[in-house]
Amino acid sequence: MADPAATNTGVLARCARCGLAFAGQPEDCARVTELVVLHTRYCLRDDRSNEVWAPYEAVYASLRRHVVVVDADREARKALRSLLERAGHRVDEAEDARGAVELALTRQPDVVLVDVDLLGGVAARIRAARGRQAPLLVALTRGGHAEDRRRARAAGFDTSLLEPPDTAEIERLVAAAPQMTRLRA
Ligand SMILES: [Zn+2]
Repeated sequence: MADPAATNTGVLARCARCGLAFAGQPEDCARVTELVVLHTRYCLRDDRSNEVWAPYEAVYASLRRHVVVVDADREARKALRSLLERAGHRVDEAEDARGAVELALTRQPDVVLVDVDLLGGVAARIRAARGRQAPLLVALTRGGHAEDRRRARAAGFDTSLLEPPDTAEIERLVAAAPQMTRLRA
């Protein structure tokens, strides 16, 4: 599978007759087993051992978002990246506002997460260039959350999260963002 974002998807079963492989994530095991039984009923027995059928790929693709993480701190970026990648998302990193804007305009991500210290001008420049196709802009705030939230809203961000973000909270936000690739299609 060429798509690096699909790395969690592996072969879970094979047809004993034709060799066709069925791929999915570990939690798909029971449903894949049902599919193999169904396939076996109609299997033509021609050799298909080079083929991989990934029926759940479309589901994963629809849940996957492209996220740009913007933070001057490398460790903070790494932590966010691994959290997001574990949930199947694709991540790019920027260490400053300029890099963030550049990535947001060239890679057209679905979500941009920006550390509170780098808010200045980021949202305004992305919105000016992308208009209604702007990604979901999220500010990552620390202590003094109320004041930071106010700053983030004033700077043009859609919403803010307290850093380090709670896994469930960030997933709820990122997974719900509209997919830019789909909007463009
Ligand atoms: Zn078969």
